[in-house]
Amino acid sequence: MDEMRHLLKRLKIYSLLDLALFLPASYDDTRLLTSITPGKVHTFEAVVKEAHTLNGKLVVTFTLPRFAQTLQSMFFRTTPYHYQTFASGSRHIIQGRVELYRGTLQMSQPKSLKSHGEIITKYKSTIKQSEMHRLMKHYLSEQALIAEGLLPAEAEVLMSLHFPHSLETLYREGHYRPEVIVTLKHIEAFNYLKKLASKRIEHPAISALTGGIDAFVTGLPFDLTMEQQQVIAEIAQDLSRSDRAAKRLVVGDVGSGKTMVILAAVMMAQPHRSILMAPTSLLALQLYEEAVKHLPEGIRIALVMQGREEGEYREADFVIGTHALLYKEDLPRAPLVMVDEQHRFGTQQRHLLEALASDAVEGDGERRAHFLQFSATPIPRTQAMMESALIDVSLITKTPFEKKITTQVIGTQDFPKLLTQIQTEIAREHQVLIVYPLVEESEMIDYQSLTESRGFWEKRFENVYVTHGKDKEKEEVLLNFREKGDILLATTVVEVGISLPRLTMIVIVGAERLGLATLHQLRGRVGRLGLESWCYLFTRNEKSERLQAFTRTTNGFDIAKLDLKFREGGDILDGTIQSGQKFKWLDMAEDEEIVAAATERL
Ligand code: ADP
Ligand code: MG
Repeated sequence: MDEMRHLLKRLKIYSLLDLALFLPASYDDTRLLTSITPGKVHTFEAVVKEAHTLNGKLVVTFTLPRFAQTLQSMFFRTTPYHYQTFASGSRHIIQGRVELYRGTLQMSQPKSLKSHGEIITKYKSTIKQSEMHRLMKHYLSEQALIAEGLLPAEAEVLMSLHFPHSLETLYREGHYRPEVIVTLKHIEAFNYLKKLASKRIEHPAISALTGGIDAFVTGLPFDLTMEQQQVIAEIAQDLSRSDRAAKRLVVGDVGSGKTMVILAAVMMAQPHRSILMAPTSLLALQLYEEAVKHLPEGIRIALVMQGREEGEYREADFVIGTHALLYKEDLPRAPLVMVDEQHRFGTQQRHLLEALASDAVEGDGERRAHFLQFSATPIPRTQAMMESALIDVSLITKTPFEKKITTQVIGTQDFPKLLTQIQTEIAREHQVLIVYPLVEESEMIDYQSLTESRGFWEKRFENVYVTHGKDKEKEEVLLNFREKGDILLATTVVEVGISLPRLTMIVIVGAERLGLATLHQLRGRVGRLGLESWCYLFTRNEKSERLQAFTRTTNGFDIAKLDLKFREGGDILDGTIQSGQKFKWLDMAEDEEIVAAATERL
């Protein structure tokens, strides 16, 4: 028993369904067939009629009693064993591929089997086949699978894959039948969700938050979009509970208006305190400015970041800050903790954030703050549904106003035209961002680097600013550029967190090297306030289907889906590949209905 547990661990199998989904890689069919099909593997009862040596090879003629035919076999590497075994008149069960050559049946180098009549499953595993068979026999049964939540028909399919009586209904020419694959997808999705759901830990909340948002909503200079209203309603529902602290991720494209959702949540928390953390000082400052602008008077707002504080955070209703917040020992507890641009925090920082949500209630035992996270990295709907077993997910898929961005793939021949257009945009007091693949030149890359190109731009244009990911003065450069710049040269690693309302053109050099998610983030920088804008993908591979597909949509959720589709194409620079090859059968780009059905079964 313990020994079997040990085997399961070695195979990285953690649930009964994991084991059941560990399917045979192939089947050895030793059933005696009633007809002969040349080109296929057959198992025969055979009697040696005659055997002789020819040029060092053993040539054996068998008779096949069931077919009243003869079959010729050749053994190339022979040992005395072969001569003994295939003595004239001896009986065998032979297996091998049958060919028809000049009217004679042939089977080269047949295997001699001990028994026949079974379909033997072959698992691809570092563990011995006999052990694999023992494991499957021990754990798998139709009842056990049904007890795990499978439908009887699903259990039956799995059982017949592991203990086949006939292969034809499941398997043909090395491939599962389409209906079997659909069943496997359902089971795979269900198994994944079930495991995730078991990891979800619920805590009671510090308090139910039920503050009204009307004063805030009516004060806004615009109407909230349907999706904003819907997410706000979902959050109101979450926060109104005290038996369960909220854990929700709100995902919406750049510019989809997530800040309004954050501010609405602050209103709900009233008269209690809310804390919001942002990944950079620029963003924290921007959020602070928006809060001051849009929240009703009387709500005390404080800002906490390294080297700058506004208001008195110990008494504020709403504390906005960077990770500097984590080091304030006298940060008062708050029943609502939020994190903006969650995707830009590292894993380690995210753990700290979770701690912020629990520390905020120090000494209160099991209670936790309601915890809301906001992310601008659209994820495919299928993935959002999957994640929802662990954390509630809300999607904002549309931006409040249609962005007018023209995206185009361009090459060297388009450069003169590009220069002219850059001049035109600057003349209109608009700004241009040019993104380079690297800071320094490299032999690995067929494009100019930031350093190499810098001179070119500085010679032809005024007010050229330069920054990159490792630049210590990056935030200051960006702030100066926002006020005074015409052209910003940067690398992809530079996260332009602040909004640059006059930015109307982005040129991405070596665009084919980037993942679609990254391209989308970059493109999201232009036209934020609805100005007509352009995104140029400069590449030496203008035919790239992936880039062409990217030019046809600006919706982040569509792009997330495209990204799944083109993933094999390789995102060279993207370290953020999410679930990748987690599933053997399920296709996250295509199987939305199956995933939806699986979530219904939990
Ligand atoms: P995100 O944080 O999702 O990237 P923001 O919250 O910064 O987006 O919103 C982008 C811009 O859209 C801001 O200028 C904001 O004031 C504006 N905005 C938000 N919601 C609406 C709306 N419903 N109608 C019009 N403009 C909106
Ligand atoms: Mg935002």
